[in-house]
Amino acid sequence: MGSAMSQWFSWLVLAFAVIVFPTLFFVVAPYGRHARAGWGPSMPAKLGWVLMEAPSFFLFAIAWWLNPAFGTLTVSLLGAAYLLHYGQRTFIYTARMRADGKVKPVLTVAMAIVFNVLNGWGNGSQLMDRPIDFALIAGLALFFLGFGINVHSDAVLRSLRAPGEGGYKVPTGGLHHFVASPNYFGEVIEWLGFAIAAQTLAGWAFFAFTCANLVPRARSNWAWYRKQFADYPASRRALIPFVW
Ligand code: NDP
Repeated sequence: MGSAMSQWFSWLVLAFAVIVFPTLFFVVAPYGRHARAGWGPSMPAKLGWVLMEAPSFFLFAIAWWLNPAFGTLTVSLLGAAYLLHYGQRTFIYTARMRADGKVKPVLTVAMAIVFNVLNGWGNGSQLMDRPIDFALIAGLALFFLGFGINVHSDAVLRSLRAPGEGGYKVPTGGLHHFVASPNYFGEVIEWLGFAIAAQTLAGWAFFAFTCANLVPRARSNWAWYRKQFADYPASRRALIPFVW
């Protein structure tokens, strides 16, 4: 179950989700294509991504290692899945991202660090030994499906820019054919799968926050594409193929 402190961390993450979800429909987070002036000092985008994602990797790893159930089969599987995602995001995604000359507000980096400290610690310390049941297998299958969609969709976006380029094009390939933000779709599926498999408060809180964060942003990205490109395919949805 993890310590009382880690449970409180997860309640805080849930509280953030409740606040962030309606807010982001009105105030779009000022990074990437939605970057704009008026959000204080900025830093190189690549460095910002590494700094903000690193606590998720390292703090999770420490909490996982200190977890009394460390070494059991289910805790090993779930920990490896989490570290696969955050190892990819912190070290590989950031190393390969086409972000020459791009900056990110320090404020968004700082907020993400606070979130990732609470979330990484909560998830690592709350993992528990579970039977290998349907929920565990189906949840992990969903996790890996989402991971594949997320990594593939991000790779398609990366391929749109030559090294040194910073502009935007209409993406095609994979789920980009159906939705404006398939990388977010993959991310949502991943953390739904993780929550089903882990059955911890931290897992469900992370899934709730991921939806609260990425659902409104997927809508903003979709609206941005339609405004930016006259030939943007009318059939493309924001986040969920054929649905929304
Ligand atoms: P985006 O899809 O906005 O951008 C991903 C990368 O692709 C950026 O480098 C971006 O450049 C570039 N890009 C995007 N669209 C285009 C285009 N049309 N043409 C050319 N290049 C493009 O994703 P985010 O930056 O918001 O997120 C990155 C990753 O982090 C995703 O995998 C996402 O799922 C994950 N994430 C997870 C969150 C969670 O709560 N779990 C929260 C936020 C992100 P630029 O930056 O210059 O726009």
